[in-house]
Amino acid sequence: MRIFQPSRLRRLAHLLPELVQSLLGERETVEYPFGPAELPPNHRGEVQVDAELCRGCGACARDCPASALTLERDGRNAYRLIHYRDRCAYCGQCTDSCRFGAIRLADTFVPATTRRDVLTVILAEKRPEEESETQGCSDKPGAESD
Ligand code: SF4
Ligand code: SF4
Repeated sequence: MRIFQPSRLRRLAHLLPELVQSLLGERETVEYPFGPAELPPNHRGEVQVDAELCRGCGACARDCPASALTLERDGRNAYRLIHYRDRCAYCGQCTDSCRFGAIRLADTFVPATTRRDVLTVILAEKRPEEESETQGCSDKPGAESD
């Protein structure tokens, strides 16, 4: 074959040190996904809510520029905060809007998927029965969404 001609082999000889270094040297690329990802400071990952802190005020859903959050109400204090990961821009506006420090962008990745339905997640939920337990009375039924 032509590649084995002496003149060509001489020209390729200067690649040998690079080849040996690549094969025997330390890995230059990042380990992820075979090891932990090294994330930069203030990485904007998965949107999470501390249900204990969330008051169901809806400010995060109101201010979300991507309509990626919805607050569904079932009574005065019962609610469900839903996040649509496929719409989210991971901009962080919801964390700025929350006066209670309940919502944050964690340093974890949203797993890739081919199923769109699994990208809709309930971030916080307060059920009507919890509402009546904590309030000691029942509120007028009704539902509204932001
Ligand atoms: S990070 Fe931005 S786009 Fe995503 S839910 Fe929060 S405000 Fe909406
Ligand atoms: S996460 Fe914050 S802004 Fe959003 S509903 Fe809960 S308390 Fe309100």
